[in-house]
Amino acid sequence: MIHEHRVLNPATEELVATVPATSAAEVGAAVARAAAAQRTWAALAPADRARLLRRFAVLVDEHAERLARLEVTEAGHTLGNARWEAANVRDLLDYAAGGVERLTGRQIPVPGGIDITFLEPLGVVGVIAPWNFPMPIAAWGTAPALAAGNAVLLKPAETTPLTAQYLARLALDAGLPEHLFQVLPGAGDVAGDALVRHPGVAKIVFTGSARVGKQIMARCADRVKRLTLELGGKSPNIVFADADIEAAAAAAPMSFLDNAGQDCCARTRVLVQRSAYDRFLELLVPAVASVVVGDPSDERTQMGPLISLAQLERVRGFVPDGADGIRGSAPTGPGFWFPPTVLTGIAPDAPVATEEVFGPVAVVLPFEDEADAVRLADATDHGLAGSIWTRDVGRALRVSQAVRAGNLSVNSHSAVRYWTPFGGYKQSGLGRELGPDALAAFTETKNVFIGTEA
Ligand code: NAD
Repeated sequence: MIHEHRVLNPATEELVATVPATSAAEVGAAVARAAAAQRTWAALAPADRARLLRRFAVLVDEHAERLARLEVTEAGHTLGNARWEAANVRDLLDYAAGGVERLTGRQIPVPGGIDITFLEPLGVVGVIAPWNFPMPIAAWGTAPALAAGNAVLLKPAETTPLTAQYLARLALDAGLPEHLFQVLPGAGDVAGDALVRHPGVAKIVFTGSARVGKQIMARCADRVKRLTLELGGKSPNIVFADADIEAAAAAAPMSFLDNAGQDCCARTRVLVQRSAYDRFLELLVPAVASVVVGDPSDERTQMGPLISLAQLERVRGFVPDGADGIRGSAPTGPGFWFPPTVLTGIAPDAPVATEEVFGPVAVVLPFEDEADAVRLADATDHGLAGSIWTRDVGRALRVSQAVRAGNLSVNSHSAVRYWTPFGGYKQSGLGRELGPDALAAFTETKNVFIGTEA
């Protein structure tokens, strides 16, 4: 049994902190405390709950630089990304706070009376977060769940508990009730599993690997526990010959190198129409070479290290020895570094072309026509994101409608926005996060009929 987790700086391998691991019994005690806090929270006037969440957002803003620096240290994120991530938490809290007074039921016309619906909080929600975007992904579940009147127990990833713990302290400082938002660092198969199994936890929001997501789904079935899953992707970047090839090639590297490729939306399958293939690759070589890889705390750096030695070995395992392609450079010495890597001449059904690598590795595959592009784009179990480059508006819309994925962008690699819905088709997930319906996902709808003829 592991009693504490060692948090390492992935760029230097230095020990940053040791964090006690929460036991299953401690999770049980936390659930009981959260349930009591939730009742207090739900009984507050909506405007008061909204005000407290806005105060929480203000504190996140005031501490954004410290949160960002902490994320650079524990997760190896570039400083620019980490600043965006802290700001994303602030914005999510503000956006969710704006929904508290707007979370209304309906009045539905019926004969013989009045029919109304209530949107009631679920109770205690468990958020199980991964290490690739520790702050934003924690907040995607936490902010709307709190706004809808729930308590939240957040289980951060073993490697990245520090920003989550910092956020919990800010919530208390903002005046949120004690125990309403608790962070439970620990092992997935201990603290995470205890949350999943506990009868007092009404919903689980999980982001991570498909393997663990499927296990959690099976365990939630025992209690018909509510569940949102975000399980990653293998997203296509489809470049048609009629696109602005220069722009497509210039944008391609950071669409899979951002966060060292540890991004569920990374466009790691570059599908290029055969007539533009050679030109695209010619332009891609300098574009990959120009990406600045190195010290994540340097503001000019675009790509940092991988999160851990385990992840480095996993990524290495996907890249066939002697494969053709383009390699960027990466620091040598301490740290979990892997260079930007673009592979060519790979079979479309090879593991590196169909499975989520979660590292700075992409494959380039040629296609013939529109139908072939859609077929290749859909030839994985994933369906999270994708990009389509073309100057033909009709084609952009046809392909957007045909590809089975939840988040597509045309002539851009659009980032996730907190006010638009996000989630996956197929094995990329279940349910949607963010966007205008985010709060509703943390409620039960109750229908009440009031007879008026008695
Ligand atoms: P993981 O699925 O093991 O971990 C994600 C979270 O789930 C962590 O907080 C972990 O502690 C927890 N967890 C693990 N086992 C659990 C269990 N039995 N019950 C409850 N919670 C549990 O992911 P990983 O091993 O850290 O990464 C492996 C691969 O998963 C990556 O290489 C990548 O392909 C994928 N991944 C995807 C995402 C994403 O954004 N979709 C995020 C992280 C990892």
